[in-house]
Amino acid sequence: MMTDVASEAARRRTFAIISHPDAGKTTLTEKLLLFGGAIQMAGSVKGRKAARHATSDWMALEKERGISVTSSVMQFPYAGRIVNLLDTPGHADFGEDTYRVLTAVDSALMVIDVAKGVEERTIKLMEVCRLRDTPIMTFINKLDREGKNPIELLDEVESVLKIQCAPVTWPIGMGQRLKGVVHLLTGEVHLYEPGRNFTRQDSTIFASIDDPQLEARIGAQMLAELREELELVAGASHSFDADKYLRGEQTPVFFGSAVNNFGVQLLLDFFVEHAPSPRPRATTTRQVQPEEDRLTGFVFKIQANMDPQHRDRVAFMRICSGRFSAGMKAFHVRSGKEIKLANALTFMASDREIAESAYPGDVIGIHNHGTIAIGDSFTEGELLSFTGIPNFAPELFRRARLRDPLKLKQLQKGLAQLSEEGATQFFRPLLSNDLILGAVGMLQFDVVAYRLKDEYGVDAGFEPVNIATARWIRCDDPKTLEEFREKHAAHLALDAAGELVYLAPSRVNLQLAQERAPNVQFMATREHA
Ligand code: GDP
Repeated sequence: MMTDVASEAARRRTFAIISHPDAGKTTLTEKLLLFGGAIQMAGSVKGRKAARHATSDWMALEKERGISVTSSVMQFPYAGRIVNLLDTPGHADFGEDTYRVLTAVDSALMVIDVAKGVEERTIKLMEVCRLRDTPIMTFINKLDREGKNPIELLDEVESVLKIQCAPVTWPIGMGQRLKGVVHLLTGEVHLYEPGRNFTRQDSTIFASIDDPQLEARIGAQMLAELREELELVAGASHSFDADKYLRGEQTPVFFGSAVNNFGVQLLLDFFVEHAPSPRPRATTTRQVQPEEDRLTGFVFKIQANMDPQHRDRVAFMRICSGRFSAGMKAFHVRSGKEIKLANALTFMASDREIAESAYPGDVIGIHNHGTIAIGDSFTEGELLSFTGIPNFAPELFRRARLRDPLKLKQLQKGLAQLSEEGATQFFRPLLSNDLILGAVGMLQFDVVAYRLKDEYGVDAGFEPVNIATARWIRCDDPKTLEEFREKHAAHLALDAAGELVYLAPSRVNLQLAQERAPNVQFMATREHA
């Protein structure tokens, strides 16, 4: 018999949506939540976004720029499964955050705009999914508009993203001529009826393309074209292979229109059936199986000041094994301390709620005052750390410039706390009092300046500084490290976690330093340890 943990883990489906901005991620999310019964009305996701703006003023910036800086977790039940959808921030500048969310999911859903095809950000996100062979399903959106020829589009996905496509649904027409989709595995035809298609019950479904009524609905010519196209597809494309999908080698493809809620339920039905439940996870010592009794998990995201009334932070922990129950204690591996997980949050789509219990695949939010960092592992006492949650070397650097010198303490605190969220990194050079901020995108400096003022009452600006790139320093030999430290002190700094970092004024300088210190490792990412 399966244990409680094993059966709960088996029904979890934890995933994220990856897409280029404007492909329809938010709209699709909304429709998925509708099917989960999590929200009553279309428009609620945007409504919730607006409500959250009210709770934290800095998000006014997010609104101004039309970007989504925060991500969240939505949980809903569907067909006997529990679906966890981890939202990824939409703006390109926030890539790092997105990368880390993708370490916390078991699969991904890729949304492609039928008119635009494979776009630049989708390519990048796909590269990240590749690192862990994350299984991916594809939804080709906006079929109610004219777009690329579906066969050519699949070719594009295959050649640009280097993944086999297995169409599961196939469109009948497009744009003004969109009539429906054929389900290639069941043979069923689902008609497109704008304003309906809300659920299966509202839709017209024929058992096959041979149903005589279909011809009456779409016309003889279109039916003939469809038959021809289906033959072509059968000959030219791949059929669904569950193992290839799970290995990340093949993506099942669906066509539809998110805004019209068309084709979405077919996708969701297939998703909950075939998408993987939580998989084993690598740690520093061993593989952790989800069905193990004891709780383990790792933190993939920190969000500061979610609620201005409580100046605390929420650490988002992905559960990898065992069962979480409200009020339990867990072992915080990095500090070696037990932490009481009181008031942990779960993320039912209706609202954040106090968690009663949670299982592998679920995410809980842990309130803390800065003791918990991205990449931290929790267990019930075992000394293990989950691996693979990267911290990327920033590519842009600025020195913080304070307008009121009396606010130095607040500035330091603000920079350190905001850097815990992971979008920026904070460095203190060994030999100066400078406060250096590193980021992967320019926009992040604006966000930090705005939040420093809004949340910490500090008026600070950022000025250019002569740093081109950063590398984390590793060296097993204490003597070599000490020598290196002395010789290069002018270029060394400590990051927020106290790790040694080399801040290079140029690539050439970095290269020379590396050549001169062959026994020292220069790392472009820091694995959270
Ligand atoms: P995101 O940036 O990926 O989250 O995209 P959104 O969900 O905000 O959608 C971007 C725009 O495309 C919005 O104006 C949507 O209303 C629109 N949109 C989304 N799905 C469809 C669709 O199926 N058909 C059409 N015509 N527009 C859509």
